[in-house]
Amino acid sequence: MSDALHYQSIAELSAALQARRISAVDLMQAVIARTRAVEDRVHAFNSYDFEDALAQARASDERRARGEARGPLDGIPIGLKDVIAVTGQPLTASSRMLQTFVSPYDATVTQRLREAGAICWGRLNMDEFAMGSSTENSAFGPTANPYALDCVPGGSSGGSAAAVAAGETIVSLGSDTGGSIRQPASFCNVVGLKPTYGLVSRYGLIAFASSLDQIGPFGRSVEDTAIVLGAIAGHDPRDSTSWRADVPDYRAALQSRRGPWRIGIPREYFGEGLDPEVAASVQAAVRFYESQGCTVKDVSLPHTEYGIGVYYIIATAECSSNLARFDGIRYGHRSKDAKDAVEIYAESRAEGFGPEVKRRIILGTYVLSSGYYDAYYLRAQKVRTLIRQDFLNAYRDVDVILTPTAPTPAFRRGAKADPLAMYLCDIYTIGVNLAGLPAVSVPCGFSADGRPIGMQLIGQPFGEAELLAMAHTYERAHAWGQRRPTL
Ligand code: GLN
Repeated sequence: MSDALHYQSIAELSAALQARRISAVDLMQAVIARTRAVEDRVHAFNSYDFEDALAQARASDERRARGEARGPLDGIPIGLKDVIAVTGQPLTASSRMLQTFVSPYDATVTQRLREAGAICWGRLNMDEFAMGSSTENSAFGPTANPYALDCVPGGSSGGSAAAVAAGETIVSLGSDTGGSIRQPASFCNVVGLKPTYGLVSRYGLIAFASSLDQIGPFGRSVEDTAIVLGAIAGHDPRDSTSWRADVPDYRAALQSRRGPWRIGIPREYFGEGLDPEVAASVQAAVRFYESQGCTVKDVSLPHTEYGIGVYYIIATAECSSNLARFDGIRYGHRSKDAKDAVEIYAESRAEGFGPEVKRRIILGTYVLSSGYYDAYYLRAQKVRTLIRQDFLNAYRDVDVILTPTAPTPAFRRGAKADPLAMYLCDIYTIGVNLAGLPAVSVPCGFSADGRPIGMQLIGQPFGEAELLAMAHTYERAHAWGQRRPTL
């Protein structure tokens, strides 16, 4: 028996749409009904516009009736993290600073999804300005983990992961600066892919740390994730860091690329702090690949221990610069009490930003200040190069690197009040951003009490097709991703 519409795959849904067994309006109505039924418990969305979504669905049905359907995404609902611009829709970054801001334009990814016929709907909750690992830093209240409602969904793209897991959308987009797609994917039993830096345009993404940020897809299967990646990837003249890379057919690669792969296991990623149930699930996945003829080899990424320190210098430096634009003058919150220009800046920022964002801006301003720039920022950039070199050295001997995505399964809301404890959630994901590499998190088990566990596959630059094929090989033989939450 097939799943309810809101839990079907893109392949199933697009076949049903093409055969006229369902309409895009039927599908959108099913997703809306599901959202109405579960959203008060999950709180994945900051806002949505059912009427606009249904209008897009009608347009899709009309295209199809004229024989102008645009491919597998035509009529498929996709939710967007509330940091990706959609014309005429709120764009808040889960911040009071942008609570009333409406985007005047589409991000490149939004535009490409529209061209593919997808229904861009819903503004998905997140940590404020993408700073956090639990979605508790949202100014509009936390998102719950659909598999354990008292636990966090991860972050910062927690709404994007939770909505897909809960059947409130078919697929979604998030952004990943230090783990914000992969870690919530692992907490919510979905697939989440962070592309190679430069593969996906950042035009229309509210910037956090520009040298690390990438937009990427979430899906309940590797194939759904591959289809969305194919729609959003590729060169964009409006993003100067966008790479002129060929975009392969990621979906076709799932069938055509079969390995066997040479898999590297970095010993630095299996040490202190790794939860035993996570370790056991990831090790079982390694044994599966061995059983498929893959070679498994220990590799070393010796500068791993500096990752968190380097990240919190570079990311905060870049965020202090990027967030300087929110000054109450041209857009965003403006304090009602301010009496002159300086007070407008100070009061608007004091009122508009939450505590984690302020902490980062202060830290970033400090590491860039004269006298400290060389000691912190410049040195961090040098260590960043060493971290990238570690990966490139490892890739002389192996095709991919396999690690846990996060050291633990989802934790309880409120459990990590200390910012440093929160920062440590990203120890296995941050190196990938510093090195600019692609990586995907794939469901690989559950804890005894039912919380999802994910593994991370890290690829070589622009190696997404290989990564997705490798993830698909695992997924075909395991049913983790099909276990639905009891909501
Ligand atoms: N958790 C990390 C941070 O707080 C990463 C966030 C992200 O990838 N956007 O910065």
